[in-house]
Amino acid sequence: MPGASTVTIHADRETHPSRALAQPIYQTAAFSADDGATFAAGAVEPRGEGFYTRFGNPNHAQVAAVVAELENTEAAMVTSSGMAAITTAVLALVSAGDHVIGQQSTYGGTASVLLNLLPRLGVDTTLVDQRDTEAFEKALTPKTRLILVETPSNPLLHITDLRAVAELARAHDVLTLADNTFATPLNQRPADLGVDVVWHSATKYLNGHSDVSAGVLAGPAAILDRVWDTSLLTGATLGPIDAWLLLRGIRTLPLRVPRHNDNGLALAEALTRHPAVTRVHYPGLDTHPQHALAAAQMTGFGGVLSMEFTGGYDMADAFLGHLRYPRRSASLGGVESLAVHPASMWRGMLSDEQLTEAVPPGLIRLAAGTEDTADLVADVLAAADAVSSASGTA
Ligand code: PLP
Repeated sequence: MPGASTVTIHADRETHPSRALAQPIYQTAAFSADDGATFAAGAVEPRGEGFYTRFGNPNHAQVAAVVAELENTEAAMVTSSGMAAITTAVLALVSAGDHVIGQQSTYGGTASVLLNLLPRLGVDTTLVDQRDTEAFEKALTPKTRLILVETPSNPLLHITDLRAVAELARAHDVLTLADNTFATPLNQRPADLGVDVVWHSATKYLNGHSDVSAGVLAGPAAILDRVWDTSLLTGATLGPIDAWLLLRGIRTLPLRVPRHNDNGLALAEALTRHPAVTRVHYPGLDTHPQHALAAAQMTGFGGVLSMEFTGGYDMADAFLGHLRYPRRSASLGGVESLAVHPASMWRGMLSDEQLTEAVPPGLIRLAAGTEDTADLVADVLAAADAVSSASGTA
């Protein structure tokens, strides 16, 4: 199998309908057919490319070809955002009366699907501590249909044992869906460890330039056919221009990820030694309680880390005000470093009680971009110095 850099540049070659080096943008809502049989066939072809853009579009197919090969899955599909990917998948795969297992530490939107949306639709959910594989087993019921995992998790960087959970699920005829946004397929390939469907907020590393909202799902064609069918109803359609931008971003993913990995580790190591910081969460640190598991299933540890400040909510918030390079923003995975205070950001998605369970108030999530490592480390340490001298911790 070719390497990731070759895949991101050439895996869509077969889908090239023209001889242009840069893919044309099929900015059209629909396509025409010369005869009734072709037209009728287009209407039922999952992820087709020539019927109606909500059903599929050549720009979607190009991204899907690259993502499927990167994730080593049979097929892939694109959606209008990461949340469109997970919500559409869940709606496709469960019904009222079913049971779904998720993680206590997970992206706020996914937590809200588990805690709010699914119970409203008559689907029971159980959230477990992903660090304990047995907790997944204990949560299984005869009605369990799906296990949603996310590793490393947002924003606590907890690790899920993908192989163990996938094996457990398979033994009970339960499907597994893994959010691979933080790791990227460069650092971790859940399907190789037995996970059924891998999904991403492609808004993040896959696109990498903070200019597109998109999602992807990768897995067996038969499962994605069901998800595609539901996507026709949720209308989770990615615009052709956004699919084109996403493909352009993915072309350089293998060049960007090693720098994100280096910057993430350098920041984690530097912050570990700072007196204003009580804990750094980063799976690449050998002090991370699950470092051995992370090292066994990942080849790099990503650009996202989080840390807790001695001065709680106020100190964390003040720290953001002292940063020069990382900007205060809800996203991550772009070339620019970003930082966010989850306890304030997720207010709109979770109730106060759910929020207190999900994140410590003094936690900052830092997403290292691809800037020069020394500049980034100096800037982040200067901001930590500023808040600790203001509070007298230095
Ligand atoms: N999964 C993770 C880990 C995320 O961080 C996010 C967004 O921040 C999402 C999913 C949702 O993706 P999107 O914002 O593209 O809908």
